[in-house]
Amino acid sequence: MSRPLLVVAGGGAAGFFCAVNAARLHPGREVVLLEKSHKLLSKVKVSGGGRCNLTHDCANANEMSQAYPRGRHFVKKVLHRFFATDTVQWFTERGVAIKTEADGRMFPVSDSSASIMECLMQEANRFGIKIMMNAEVVKAVTDEKGWTIRLKDNRVLESENFCIACGGYPRSDMFQWLRETGHTIVDPVPSLFTFNIPQHPLKELMGISIPHARVKVAGTSLEEEGPLLITHWGLSGPAVLRLSARGARELHEMKYNCRILVNWLPEYNEQSLQDAFRLYRIQEAKQVMQGRNPFDYPKRFWDQLLQMAGVKEGTRWADLTAVSQNKLVKSICAFEFAVNGKTTFKEEFVTAGGIDLAEVDPQTMMSKKHKGLFFAGEILDVDGITGGYNFQFAWSSGWIAANSLVSQAAG
Ligand SMILES: Cc1cc2nc3c(=O)[nH]c(=O)nc-3n(C[C@H](O)[C@H](O)[C@H](O)COP(=O)(O)OP(=O)(O)OC[C@H]3O[C@@H](n4cnc5c(N)ncnc54)[C@H](O)[C@@H]3O)c2cc1C
Repeated sequence: MSRPLLVVAGGGAAGFFCAVNAARLHPGREVVLLEKSHKLLSKVKVSGGGRCNLTHDCANANEMSQAYPRGRHFVKKVLHRFFATDTVQWFTERGVAIKTEADGRMFPVSDSSASIMECLMQEANRFGIKIMMNAEVVKAVTDEKGWTIRLKDNRVLESENFCIACGGYPRSDMFQWLRETGHTIVDPVPSLFTFNIPQHPLKELMGISIPHARVKVAGTSLEEEGPLLITHWGLSGPAVLRLSARGARELHEMKYNCRILVNWLPEYNEQSLQDAFRLYRIQEAKQVMQGRNPFDYPKRFWDQLLQMAGVKEGTRWADLTAVSQNKLVKSICAFEFAVNGKTTFKEEFVTAGGIDLAEVDPQTMMSKKHKGLFFAGEILDVDGITGGYNFQFAWSSGWIAANSLVSQAAG
């Protein structure tokens, strides 16, 4: 009996996409999918709060690649071959209508990740993919005929090609069986988290969202802008999540202990805000400060800033003291928080690190060390910010790996 064309390790987004596309392109050839747990597509199911943010509306591969703090150049090449528009087309052709939200995130119109799961499962059934559950790969070796894959329970499979799509391993020791294939592993660290601020000066303002703020990690070049959310444990929202992704490695080295400076009005710096305050004191002279907030902040937030600056109830703009003005300007442009620890962002979290990209060809997703060995998805040292980018990389890399088997067979 001939070997299967392909064995895929990992029943997540990348593994499924690779398996179903490979099987479709090679009718009559066996494709086997191995999943170590008893659940398939488990992250797809919970993703995007159960809605599955499967990709992002971007103009082109270059623009989209900016959303990947690690592996940007590699990702750009991958996205050139299979882009967000290809993802939408792929699912639409198979009956899953996709919509775009105002911020560019794309979801199934059903607002349910089940639509994506069912579509992938149907494709797997249609092309007769052999799915094995509780099948954890612990070793893979190669010879001139292909790959020999050993499972934890000592079962052994042989295959012409082997695709590793095992997701993001959170601990370095979990990569050991991959190191044994001769590949280099970039140590894993978490990405996409929120900041814990134990001595939280704004705790009473929990739930307040500031639409546009800048967050900077003191003593580094790390800074991000965007909506900021005050929570009961610290700070969250897109600006913090993006910062956690961009600074995943630096923040890990700092053991998530750092000072951050928040500018709640990033179009101003301290100097230009002092000038603006001088103007308000003239223009708004007779107005009570608590009632006249020129920055459209939520009232509770503005009241808290005034209180912290020592501005008494009923103070008019004309009577704002220089000391209080300086304090207010400082709080608005450089509010300091001491971060101590992080909290996992439940909506989406990923692992930075994984297979070293220098050892993989982005045109084929094939290992540069071994013929017939492919990688797809989060197992690679690629991760995106929140917004559908992580799934897009899973679809793109899975599709490319599937299509590269064709050229292997042809070649
Ligand atoms: C709660 C949550 C929500 C998310 N929401 C979004 C979102 O809305 N949009 C977005 O773009 N991204 C989201 N992400 C990130 C996204 O889910 C991942 O980037 C994506 O699932 C990666 O796909 P993957 O197939 O590479 O890995 P995974 O989905 O992790 O799949 C890997 C599979 O391999 C299996 N496996 C591991 N080791 C072995 C082995 N040795 N042998 C056999 N099988 C093995 C695992 O059990 C797993 O089933 C979210 C992540 C989380 C945790």
